[in-house]
Amino acid sequence: MRKTSIPGAGGRVRRLALFGDPVLHAPCEEITEFGPEVARLVEDLFATMYAARGVGLAANQVGESVRVFVYDCPDDEDVRHLGHVVNPRLVEVDGIVLRGPEGCLSLPGLEAGTERFDHAVVEGFLADGRAVRVEGTGFFARCLQHEVDHLSGGLYVDRLAGWRRRRVLRAAGRAAWGS
Ligand SMILES: [Zn+2]
Repeated sequence: MRKTSIPGAGGRVRRLALFGDPVLHAPCEEITEFGPEVARLVEDLFATMYAARGVGLAANQVGESVRVFVYDCPDDEDVRHLGHVVNPRLVEVDGIVLRGPEGCLSLPGLEAGTERFDHAVVEGFLADGRAVRVEGTGFFARCLQHEVDHLSGGLYVDRLAGWRRRRVLRAAGRAAWGS
């Protein structure tokens, strides 16, 4: 068994950027050089995501403003999806729009009913430069849309309106990490 067979095993758990940190609210840069450095960042993202018990994590959530995310996420049929995407593009979103509970490691302990498409396709690259296409439905489609939003400087809170938005922002303001 190769040492690298478990994602994140060689990674370092990094500090999570929290809501309000400017790095979360600005678009990330495209990766221009593939290889070991990107692979190391992917490992750190996995290690950090698993330590925080998340299902997805974007690079700016550990303070790196580059376009990479990782995921280990079930869909509604309990099929596990595991991987990473460099320079992701959301090339398709369709199907019905569902409002479902959504949380984020950058707003720990909070969640809100957020509208997302039921089907999403992301295209991009692996750390070694190979092209990749990832298709998701249900909760995994939600995860893909959530992570691509992160890399554009967006959070699920930005997709909320009215009392849902006010409730989350109030709770974030009250949270120990929010001050
Ligand atoms: Zn998030």
